[in-house]
Amino acid sequence: MHLAKRVSKLQPSATLALSRQAQQLAQSGQDVIDLSIGQPDFTTPRVIKDAAISAINDGSASFYTPANGLPALREAISQHIYQQNGVTYSPDQIAVTNGAKYALASVFNLILNAGDNVLIPVPYWVSYVEQVRLAEGEPILVPSQSGFKVTVDELEAARTDKTRAIILNSPQNPTGVVYSKQELTLIGNWAVQHQILIIADDIYRDLVYNGTNFTSMISIDPAITANTILISGVSKTYAMTGWRIGYVAGPAKFMQTFSAYLSHTTGNPATVSQYAAIAAYTVDQGIVETMRQAFETRLNRLYPLIAAIPGFDLDEKPTGAFYLFPKIKRTVELLNYATTDDFAAALLAETGVAIVPGRAFGMPEYARISYAKDLESLEEAANRMQAFVTKTM
Ligand code: PLP
Repeated sequence: MHLAKRVSKLQPSATLALSRQAQQLAQSGQDVIDLSIGQPDFTTPRVIKDAAISAINDGSASFYTPANGLPALREAISQHIYQQNGVTYSPDQIAVTNGAKYALASVFNLILNAGDNVLIPVPYWVSYVEQVRLAEGEPILVPSQSGFKVTVDELEAARTDKTRAIILNSPQNPTGVVYSKQELTLIGNWAVQHQILIIADDIYRDLVYNGTNFTSMISIDPAITANTILISGVSKTYAMTGWRIGYVAGPAKFMQTFSAYLSHTTGNPATVSQYAAIAAYTVDQGIVETMRQAFETRLNRLYPLIAAIPGFDLDEKPTGAFYLFPKIKRTVELLNYATTDDFAAALLAETGVAIVPGRAFGMPEYARISYAKDLESLEEAANRMQAFVTKTM
């Protein structure tokens, strides 16, 4: 069948493909530890589930909502953003979407003309590049020389008169690094100066560890806020990946068009999920802290185990999200695999441990290990990886 040019090279998300492979192995009876997937292993907190059940039972979940989301949810998000960042967005400046993923894809569709450039720091979340291409833009990959964080000099070297936007993800998937206020300020001022829109993907903002402070790009100064589109959602913070609720917050005029766009594409995200999200944002946030602490304990336990695997080189301990991103080039070479992909495939086949080769994130010499799993599984996975590497060495 004839396909449009813009989708002719489209590939499924590598992370989703890999966890499907791991699931198939598990279904065939193999003892699999899937460290490939980017979602909390916790189920959604009871109080959120109860709100959804009530909305089903009292009938409110039966109906369409405004395309940009229930007013009560947009109000709750508005207050939540204010509490966390001290910045006011009116409910009209917020739109609720089918996950942050659809929020991002929509933003690119709304801001890009064919050939417009979007700066994407490397490594990057798998979907940014494809989403920009789907919107007929051109992804410009910007490698970062130190600590996985891009600098103004590196961005400036990549800037052209076609540069329309930069996407900045902090805490970052796949590395777990968190940009400091000072680093964000430099990038924010540079973007304002050159009228380059900032897309701030704050989806992991609540998951920071060992005393790290999170600063959002929107909270630095009003000129930067006005030049930024904020993306976030409930998936990672509230263990709600399956409910598919994300949001966009931005300048009023842009958000008007955004809502019109939603009204012709998805319409509203599932009403029941929106009621659940209202509960997420308005109940006692102790539920978040409990999960955050669990991730912190796992990070602190897993990091030294992974660092001890021969040929796995780790930077400083990450401070956010729930991933480790070791460079495994030495291991791959020592074990005579042609690529990290081959190594990951053999690791999965022989030990049942699934990790994601770094190619998916633009750094093929690395691999992403998710620690959104219970401690026992993480320790067992680290033991299996260690044994696999040392046995075959
Ligand atoms: N942004 C980043 C960096 C992510 O890692 C993810 C999920 O993996 C998303 C956005 C999308 O999250 P969701 O669509 O579940 O809200």
